[in-house]
Amino acid sequence: MAHLTARRPQNIDGDIYVDGSCIDCDTCRWMAPDIFTRADGQSAVFHQPETEAERLAALQAVLPQSLKDGAFFDSEEGGFTHLLSAL
Ligand code: SF4
Repeated sequence: MAHLTARRPQNIDGDIYVDGSCIDCDTCRWMAPDIFTRADGQSAVFHQPETEAERLAALQAVLPQSLKDGAFFDSEEGGFTHLLSAL
């Protein structure tokens, strides 16, 4: 699970954020460029989803790698290790 204490200050306020464990893989940015941007070497949320389509895009942006690589999915906590969302 993403940790609020590790939330990157480059994120705008809101439910969705990138924390400090981002490895700058670029996936979220090319899948949801209206939500994520690159800031100081890692991703950050610059626009909080306002529609169901935007929320879906944000989730889809991180889901593939989360399922593929255990490093991105915390099975005990049942959430993303690097991004928290209230989707
Ligand atoms: S998908 Fe995750 S690890 Fe990759 S750039 Fe986005 S926040 Fe960082």
